Amino acid sequence: MNRQEKGYAEDLATLAKLDDQILLEEIHERYKRDIIYTYVGDILIAVNPFRDLGIYGKKESEMYKMAKKSANPPHIYAVADMAFQSMIGHGGLMPADQCILISGESGAGKTESTKLIIKQLIELCNGTSQLEQQILQVNPLLEAFGNALTQMNDNSSRFGKYIQLRFQDGKVKGAKISEYLLEKSRVVGQHEEDENFHIFYYLFAGQSLEKSNKFELAATTNYRYLSNGIDSLRNNLPFLQNQYKELINALDLVGFTDEEQLGLFQMVASVLHLGNISFQTNENDVTTVSKADPLNKATDLLSVNKKELSECLTSVITVTKGEYIKINYSKEKAEDCRDALSKAIYGRVFGWIVNKVNQLLAPDYNKNSDVREIGILDIFGFEHFEKNSFEQACINLANEQLQFFFNQHIFKMEQEEYIKEGIGWTEIPFIDNKPLLDLFLVKPLGILALLDEESRFPKATDTTFVEKLNHCISKNDHYQKSQKRSPPCFSINHYAGKVTYDATQWLEKNRDTMPAGIIELLKESKNELVKTLFKAEISRTGTLALQGRRSVRSRNNKSRSRKAPVDISDAKRKVTVGTQFKRSLNMLMEKMTKSSPIFVRCLKPNHNKEANDFNIPYMNQQLLYTGMLQTTKIRREGYAIRPTFQEFVDKYKVLIHKHKLQGTTGNCLDILRSTGMKGYCVGKTKVFLKYYHIEKMADILAKFDTAA
Ligand code: ATP
Ligand code: MG
Repeated sequence: MNRQEKGYAEDLATLAKLDDQILLEEIHERYKRDIIYTYVGDILIAVNPFRDLGIYGKKESEMYKMAKKSANPPHIYAVADMAFQSMIGHGGLMPADQCILISGESGAGKTESTKLIIKQLIELCNGTSQLEQQILQVNPLLEAFGNALTQMNDNSSRFGKYIQLRFQDGKVKGAKISEYLLEKSRVVGQHEEDENFHIFYYLFAGQSLEKSNKFELAATTNYRYLSNGIDSLRNNLPFLQNQYKELINALDLVGFTDEEQLGLFQMVASVLHLGNISFQTNENDVTTVSKADPLNKATDLLSVNKKELSECLTSVITVTKGEYIKINYSKEKAEDCRDALSKAIYGRVFGWIVNKVNQLLAPDYNKNSDVREIGILDIFGFEHFEKNSFEQACINLANEQLQFFFNQHIFKMEQEEYIKEGIGWTEIPFIDNKPLLDLFLVKPLGILALLDEESRFPKATDTTFVEKLNHCISKNDHYQKSQKRSPPCFSINHYAGKVTYDATQWLEKNRDTMPAGIIELLKESKNELVKTLFKAEISRTGTLALQGRRSVRSRNNKSRSRKAPVDISDAKRKVTVGTQFKRSLNMLMEKMTKSSPIFVRCLKPNHNKEANDFNIPYMNQQLLYTGMLQTTKIRREGYAIRPTFQEFVDKYKVLIHKHKLQGTTGNCLDILRSTGMKGYCVGKTKVFLKYYHIEKMADILAKFDTAA
């Protein structure tokens, strides 16, 4: 190929010559001309432009409606169109559920792509109905509570989500959202260059618009949980006020009542006040709340008893040999309790929002017609910070799982099928990340299982956990012991690079226990939302409160009475965070396996969130670890569409003027020959077509229909 032609290939799988360098140059050339989208067969590559390219307007939307893929340049709208056409079975084969899987590093553009896909899907249904408007508002709503500014991305998703849009007769009927592992720890502390969740800043900006101070919020600088991001609040007030207004608009449109909205903001404000509760310990080792004001404000907003909350935060009552003994917490333990409560409230508020959205968008089906679905997966991208904790391990594990799913589909299943069907095939090797998944997930010696084991062992510490890892899995090639003992660390060679994890607090984060007695207290709240958030909790945490008056002996042996929360919390009975995450990943994989996947690969051109900055080594690294060269090769040489003989014959029999036809090799060949196409293959039970054949077949069918 000569130089002038570089960057003009809309589909890299059509390039005659291929290597890593050529792939990179093609994408770079296109990027220089503001062309951020490129196909690799049916996979879309999207490079984040970090600026508005003006390519998502009405004109583009119309261009990509029910269009032929080859009729327009690559675009994210074409992905929506592809999913929609395949779902309804337009021009292709059988109608089928679709899932669109969007991957890429943090800040690569997954969430933006998700929103654009949903917008175009709604356009494809000519959507102006109330339901469609509600669906469009879900993303901004969830982002306010679940996204935050990080070093890598100003609007980083701190949770994963799978949005299932449900359709009947080509119309959207409802939606269901599943959320994965909100990073609750962000509520109580953030990396130096990070901020808390957006909602905290929106709340302040919103307050500045209102006359009353409903939530008793003082100057922003007064809040421990908001020590980061104060400058941005000061400098961006009009922007944040606007975001607040948009949030209210989204809440209204999706269908949250005024009372529910007030409840939500009250909860967010209560978390800020809780964060300001501080403690002191006297000479008898009794810890108490040191200033009344934050406690008063928090308990007012939560509508719970002040004295009881302060007792729960500073002591626990346990049963030993039939006697109730009060154990006072240290100052540090009380602080941990306070933070655990804040995280729990925030996490449950988020869960409640998702549930509520699911109720409001629940589909109303017509019984007489089939239901189809397009799922869109937008998770938190691969992360590698200076300090990486349990959250990063879970996020990176989710990305490993997604990469595995991609490999399974693009390389493994496909190549196995070629061999099984006996078509001539030279194997294309790929880097299998199964050993990495095993490293995390196998029982009993995977990282999560070992973490669970240590979490259940009362004397275990984060250091003993890492010692256990070093002992049990140091032979795994992807695991690396750390030379340092403090803090306890270990490294993993992920598919996307090496990450060193600091295991401090892992046991506690995995246990995620609520301070004893607090749930009971919150269930008794006068505030409906608080009650709802904490109801039906006994079986989950194993924490029980005694309602009667009990004789309680405190450590210094002074007997006294009070309505006593008693800790029988039993880590054995509670499902740990790691296990919950593993289960939800499994469920997600099951859901996705049932649908036909469509892949979007987002690439991030630089680390600085800058436009017009293509960092060649960084881009090359992303192309390498995503296996883009191998993907392009398999897309070039492989057969993306593989109907069974019968499916093929049923769909195309009219081409040879038949109404009834058996699914045999001969009949398939007759049909194929009648089209004049080249490059297909016929196996033992299936026809093997290139992705571009299907478009051609649809054309021929359409001509046939018109002629008829
Ligand atoms: P994370 O894993 O951290 O959630 P992400 O992959 O979801 O990251 P996005 O939030 O979608 O990343 O994108 C980061 C930022 O990049 C956006 O806020 C936006 O400024 C910019 N961006 C992404 N895609 C586009 C696009 N198509 N056009 C213009 N800007 C974009
Ligand atoms: Mg995101």
